[in-house]
Amino acid sequence: MEIVGDGVIIGAGIAGLATAVALKRVGVQALILEKSDTLRSTGAALTLFPNAWLALDALGVSDKLTSLYTPFSKGSITDVATGAVQEVLYTGNGGKAQGPILVHRKALLEALAKELPADSIRFSSKFTAIEQQELGDVSIVLLHLKDGTTTKSKVLVGCDGVNSAVAKWLGLSAPIHSGQAAVRGLAVFPQGLGFKKEVAQFVDVGKRAAFVPLTDKELYWALACLEGESMARDPGLIQKEVIENHAKDFPPEYLDVVRHADLSNLTWAPLMFRHPWNVIFGNLSKGNITLAGNAIHPMTPDLAQGGCSALEDAVVLGRHIGNSFIKNGGLLVPENMAPATDGYVKERKWRAAMLITGSYLSGWVQQVGSKWWKKFLRDTLYGFVMPRLSNVVAYDCGTFPSVSASSDQRHNREI
Ligand SMILES: Cc1cc2nc3c(=O)[nH]c(=O)nc-3n(C[C@H](O)[C@H](O)[C@H](O)COP(=O)(O)OP(=O)(O)OC[C@H]3O[C@@H](n4cnc5c(N)ncnc54)[C@H](O)[C@@H]3O)c2cc1C
Repeated sequence: MEIVGDGVIIGAGIAGLATAVALKRVGVQALILEKSDTLRSTGAALTLFPNAWLALDALGVSDKLTSLYTPFSKGSITDVATGAVQEVLYTGNGGKAQGPILVHRKALLEALAKELPADSIRFSSKFTAIEQQELGDVSIVLLHLKDGTTTKSKVLVGCDGVNSAVAKWLGLSAPIHSGQAAVRGLAVFPQGLGFKKEVAQFVDVGKRAAFVPLTDKELYWALACLEGESMARDPGLIQKEVIENHAKDFPPEYLDVVRHADLSNLTWAPLMFRHPWNVIFGNLSKGNITLAGNAIHPMTPDLAQGGCSALEDAVVLGRHIGNSFIKNGGLLVPENMAPATDGYVKERKWRAAMLITGSYLSGWVQQVGSKWWKKFLRDTLYGFVMPRLSNVVAYDCGTFPSVSASSDQRHNREI
């Protein structure tokens, strides 16, 4: 058996890496176990809203990304059936945070990973079973890995994504299929884009698509449609199906973007979400074991908040564990981990449930179809929900306690 230090995190996605950075900032060392042999950047790019930039500020990595990418302030939504175009304005949160910015997923993951000591991520390490072992008053987490090894830690954070085995171990029900799936990828224009730095969205009955310039030669594009409609798995065939079937009635500029798709990063995925009441009433922690990111709150991508809220989770969890660490003079005391994870869950669960619900509603209102009563419902919901959602994506998850005093205490004691 190997004792790997204070914390173990399962999964080196956005949630896992950000949680490790958050713990490092409050003085807690953590090892990330990742089943893949490298950082996975499936999906190519993602939009980070002001709430994510505030979390990235707290994590100390926002500057690395804002020096590479610029915010967008405007967009449009085109109704494919009628051709009607609605303008959308995006803002920061009154000057404190950046407006929404599209970034390469790889750049975000690497920026977070660079904050960690060299040996913090152990790749090709899939966990297979968890045990909570009581040693007197002290609860320790034992983790069994596929290669037959076992690790021991004081706290475990499951950041193992939508099909989280840690969430299953905690008794949460499996996420459910929204009925939709999405194609995502980059489009490359070697001669330069010639598009404005704006989000172009397109809605049709049961379909929603978008493209956004990422660099001066690359665009991110996506299409969500009903999963019931057939979709190939080969990238070339996916591209063909989008052009000839799913988006055949979309404006020529959208089809032109899809024709320029880079097949090496084109992917297709079902869109899953967890019932919000499962997040509110389910066990999101048990003693020194908890969850972050998609493992808690898989949601449809309609508000682009899955990754943003994973960053919030990391900061809030880091703060609760950091407060416990400081209270105990710079030591992570296993029996004090339960109050810390409880506090984290209380702070996060209503927001997570609200984001899942908001994302689902936001997707629904934009794709309801052409019947008059559906349009009425859509316009009413749009008028009521949308203005409130801008506050939701400007949420400030806060920062970390200062750990210098507690580190000094720990240092003195260790000497
Ligand atoms: C179409 C689409 C568009 C999106 N757009 C946006 C957007 O614009 N903005 C935004 O904020 N969000 C967006 N999202 C959501 C965002 O992609 C996710 O919420 C985010 O990637 C979740 O990160 P995570 O770290 O929780 O999970 P993941 O990225 O899934 O990471 C989980 C990690 O755990 C590892 N793992 C799993 N099981 C094990 C195991 N047993 N042992 C070891 N390792 C394991 C996996 O290999 C993986 O690396 C979008 C999602 C979709 C589907």
